[in-house]
Amino acid sequence: MRVLKLDISGVPESWISMEAAASYYAAQSVAYELGVDLATYRGGRRHDGSRSKITIAPIIAIHGASVAGKLLASTPRLTRHNHKLFKRDRRVCAYCGGLFGEANLEREHVIPVSRGGADTWTNVVSACRTCNQLKGAKTPEEARMPLLYVPYVPSRWEDLILQARAEHIVADQMAFLRDGLSSDSRLR
Ligand SMILES: [Zn+2]
Repeated sequence: MRVLKLDISGVPESWISMEAAASYYAAQSVAYELGVDLATYRGGRRHDGSRSKITIAPIIAIHGASVAGKLLASTPRLTRHNHKLFKRDRRVCAYCGGLFGEANLEREHVIPVSRGGADTWTNVVSACRTCNQLKGAKTPEEARMPLLYVPYVPSRWEDLILQARAEHIVADQMAFLRDGLSSDSRLR
């Protein structure tokens, strides 16, 4: 399980481990929390013999200056690993429209790298091996393979959904992140 960390103004910052969340609670750095508790940890014994307890919520906001401006100005990283890219494109090949498993998809540069195309969110799409080979070092126009969808830069909220493995995300976290999506987001 992961905990969604927010800055004081409620902008999602990152996924953190349960241990990291527990240390924020121990340091009394949690300003507020959202969602149904994920887990309870027992701490050391107090003087009266009772044990301290730390209950961890799925979403926590941390005290301190707001970093919302910085967070919203930054572009989510396009990692070398393709998981986020394939998830953004819902595992649909941009050229034939087929739905594939991640093992059968490749990162395809719309403007080929050899032609000066950048390795950025807006120049990469998910493509099946067959389409990727067919297109080769051509542009979509040259290859007569028009894009079926337009590549885009994920928002901060989308990026956190893309980062998370489905089994690590609880309903409260998904609901929170979905609330931040624009109405035309493909992750809705
Ligand atoms: Zn294809």
